[in-house]
Amino acid sequence: MKKLSIEERLGTNKFIVDEDVPHIVLDKSICAACKAKPCVKACPAGLYQVQGDSVSFDYAGCLECGTCRVVCLSKGLTWVYPRGTFGVEFRYG
Ligand code: SF4
Repeated sequence: MKKLSIEERLGTNKFIVDEDVPHIVLDKSICAACKAKPCVKACPAGLYQVQGDSVSFDYAGCLECGTCRVVCLSKGLTWVYPRGTFGVEFRYG
């Protein structure tokens, strides 16, 4: 059996994105004031990107691990699980 890389494993996941209700919402003013931006390094899916003083984010590929919620000590985001039938479906290869 072929050993898959992290990127290949992540690529097997299926996402049903809730376009109406994002399950993670950033407070852009808090993100802009945060110098450390720990979410950028901590998110295993790489969904946070530094953009100038602030952070760009797309919840569409979220693995629902909760890491960003824990590492954001500035309380710059609200985090809930996606509504029923939405979110990630893990498919390990
Ligand atoms: Fe990234 Fe995990 Fe936060 Fe989703 S819950 S955005 S995968 S750190």
